This record gives sequence, structure tokens and C-alpha cells, in this order.
Amino acid sequence: MLRLKRGEERRLLAGHLWVFSNEVDTARTPLAQFAAGELVQLRSWRDAFLGYAYVNPHALICARILSRAAAQPPDAQLIERRLAAALALRASLGDAHHCRWVFGESDLLPGLVLDRYGDVVVGQIATAGMEALREPLESAVRRLIEPRALIWKNDSAARDLEQLPHQLQVAWGELPAEVAILEGGLSFAAPLAAGQKTGWFYDQSANRARLRRYVAPGARVLDVCSYVGGWAIAALHQGAARACCVDSSSTALEYAAANAVRNGKTIEALRADAFDAMQELAARGEQFDVVVLDPPAFIKRKKDIPQGQAAYRKLNQLALGLLADGGLLVSCSCSYHLAPEELLAAIQSAARHGAHFVQILEAAGQSPDHPLHPAIPETRYLKAFFCRVTRAVG
Ligand code: SAH
Repeated sequence: MLRLKRGEERRLLAGHLWVFSNEVDTARTPLAQFAAGELVQLRSWRDAFLGYAYVNPHALICARILSRAAAQPPDAQLIERRLAAALALRASLGDAHHCRWVFGESDLLPGLVLDRYGDVVVGQIATAGMEALREPLESAVRRLIEPRALIWKNDSAARDLEQLPHQLQVAWGELPAEVAILEGGLSFAAPLAAGQKTGWFYDQSANRARLRRYVAPGARVLDVCSYVGGWAIAALHQGAARACCVDSSSTALEYAAANAVRNGKTIEALRADAFDAMQELAARGEQFDVVVLDPPAFIKRKKDIPQGQAAYRKLNQLALGLLADGGLLVSCSCSYHLAPEELLAAIQSAARHGAHFVQILEAAGQSPDHPLHPAIPETRYLKAFFCRVTRAVG
């Protein structure tokens, strides 16, 4: 049993699932007595049952709740029910075959991500507690969809905080070189072992669909930090005349080019740092009707906030300089530590700098297969602002 200090149950009663180590009554229940990943009952200082949780005595988030029902300890059945519920939700959203199947805390499976690529499932485990549940997880995945392969791509930075090694493991099947994605009527491939995250960014699927109404026939599109070309190819499919992908990774750009061909299109590829590339394009006098900025998280920890804000501001400033009058900027950030208002402020500051007038047409977030947990702000990380940009004085 793990006991909390007086009053520390409040956030949990409001729906959050995390316990921080300074909230534990370590005099009565020393954390050192638990093994990493151990299942415990969580109790308040008054001995009220708060839920079943898994523990990691080495982590700042030292426990995460798996079940709040006293009659339902976390067992194989509970895991399977949660996975089945998550799958049913994705089916109701329109596609349970190519989607994020499990989004951690938001699906009440803290520390677990599962992405489905047809008959291949790629998982990421972030915590010792989820590691300890791997057997029931794997059995449930097998029973529910019988995929050809289940791969654990356990290489997220979150694992360092739990003192877990980075490893790529095959639960069963063969490790494919790439995964296949169907999205918006288009077909893509993305590298698995050499790729970003699990291979594809499903969190932007809904935004790539949103982009379509803003792409006029003949539009010129710049996809900055394009990875394997998801945005650019969606725009070409919509009637754009040309799309240029900028990325620092040559592997990503090779895939982007092949993905374009796969869908009967071609892209231009520019392997460069995003900042340098946009400066060069401006020097050449290039202009675009649509610029998409989807950079990696510039802010990984709180202390990176000031530098990160400056980077977002600079990136947006460069993008505004490349837009034709009346063009569209899609400005994204996946940094949890950058609040939506802060990204807006960066966009507006960049606009003022260049005497641009910006109108936000849509303020979007992550796709619905990455649901937000209203009590857990950490589940809300992606921002995507669709901005109309004119030179008129605002
Ligand atoms: N837009 C993509 C996801 C982008 S992931 C999609 O929707 O699928 C971030 C990408 O930025 C990665 O492909 C990475 O290689 C690239 N990247 C990281 N730092 C960069 C930099 N400084 N300049 C250009 N690309 C960069």
C-alpha cells in the first residue's frame, strides 16, 4: 500500500492519474520498499481507497493510477477491456486500422502508446509499471486484432526518467523496415527503426485533412520539417501545383519523394536546416501560397522555454516572409511547455515585425485518436494554427 500525505489526494480525486514523490507519506510508506513497476493500493492519509496504481520509486512521478474501482484490480482482463474500448473508440472515429490505438493516460493506460499500421502494431512503453504489464498487454493485442507483428520501439526520452533502457524489441513477427499508412485516401510508407517516434504522426491526421479547404488549384506549398511528406502530398492531392519539402534528414526526404510517386505526384526536396532553408528561399525570391511549419519540439523541458519561444518566433517570421499576399500559414508546435497563447504570441510578434496582418482561421489541436484527458494537462500538447496572412496594415 502507498499512502499519501494529508490533502495530496485532491488532484487525483479531480481525475489526474499521477502521484509525485513529494506527495507520498514516506514516513509510513517509504518508497524504497517498492520494486520498480510494483502494483499497489493507493490510500489517502485518512485511509480512503484512491485506486490501484503502479509504482516506480526512482521516478519523480512515482505512481500512476490504473484503476479506481476497488473491485477491479489491474489484471489481464482490465488491460484487455481498456484496449478493446480504445479500439472501439477509434473504429467509431472512422478508422481503427490506421490510427493511434492507445494514447496513454487519455485511454486510462498510463505510460502506453500503441500505433496501428494495418496488421503491424508499434508500441512505446514509457514506464516501469507498463513494462511489468507487457505480458497481458501482448496477449490482449494478439487476441483483439491478431496482427502480423508487434514491435516495441522503446526509445522515448521518458524512459530515462524511469531508469529504463532504450530498446527495439520484436514481441512477435518480423521487424519490418517500414510501416504502411493509409490517410485521407493517400498511401504512405515511413521508416520504422530509422524513423521518428513509431513511424508516422497520426496526431496531425485531422489537421492534414483540415488543410485541404485552403489549398487552391495551382497553389505553391512549402512543407517545413516535412518528415516523409504527409502535408505536402495532401496538398498536391488537393490540386497544389508544386510542393517543396524541407527537412534535415535525408532518409525522411527520400521517403517523402517515394511517397509522392506512390500517389502519382512529385515533390521538390531540400535537405537543410529549416532556418537556413527558409533564408535561402527568401534570398532566391521564392514565394508560396501555403507554408506549413511542423517542427520538432523546441521546448523539451521547462528551462528551454525562453530559447524555445525565440526559435518559434524566428521560424514563423521566416515563414511569413515567404508567403504571397493572402497566403496561408499553418503554424504548429508539439511542445507541451509552449501554451497555445504563447505560440499565438510568437506568430503575432513575427507578424508585427514584418508588417503582416494575421487572421487565425482555425485553432486546432491533435487528432481525436489522441484524446485530451481534461484533468491531465500533459495530454494536450499539439497546437496547429491556420492563419491567413496579408500585407494590409492591420
Ligand atoms: N510534419 C511531419 C512531422 C515532423 S517531425 C508530419 O506531419 O509527419 C519533425 C521533422 O523535423 C523530422 O522529420 C526531423 O528530421 C525534422 N527536423 C528536425 N530538426 C530540423 C531542423 N533544424 N531543420 C529541418 N528539419 C528538422
